[in-house]
Amino acid sequence: MSYQLINIVDATQNILCPFCQHAVLDWQQEQYIQPCEHTLFMAMDLGFEFIADRFEAILPQSVDEIHEDLSMNIYETITQADYPNMQIYKADLGVEGMFRYVGFSLF
Ligand SMILES: [Zn+2]
Repeated sequence: MSYQLINIVDATQNILCPFCQHAVLDWQQEQYIQPCEHTLFMAMDLGFEFIADRFEAILPQSVDEIHEDLSMNIYETITQADYPNMQIYKADLGVEGMFRYVGFSLF
C-alpha cells in the first residue's frame, strides 16, 4: 500500500488539490466537480464520478466493469490500486456510511 488517507469530516467543505491548491470539489460552482491534472479519481461509494486515464490503466477492471459489478467496493478498489504515492481524501457525505473519495498524485 502506498497511499495516505486524509479524512474530511465536514461534508460541505471544498476539497483542494494538495499540489496546486485548485478546488477540485467546489460547492460554489454549478459544476462542482473540477478535476485538476493531479486528480486521479473522484468517486462515491456508488461509483466513479471522474477517473484519470493513468489511474484507470492500473486498475484490474475498467470503470464500466466496476460499475456493472454488483459486489463492487469502491473503497477497496481504490485502496488496493497499485499507484505510487497516492493521497486519498475521504469525505463524509453526511449520509450514513457514505463517503466521497478523491485521489491525488503529483505524477
Ligand atoms: Zn492539482
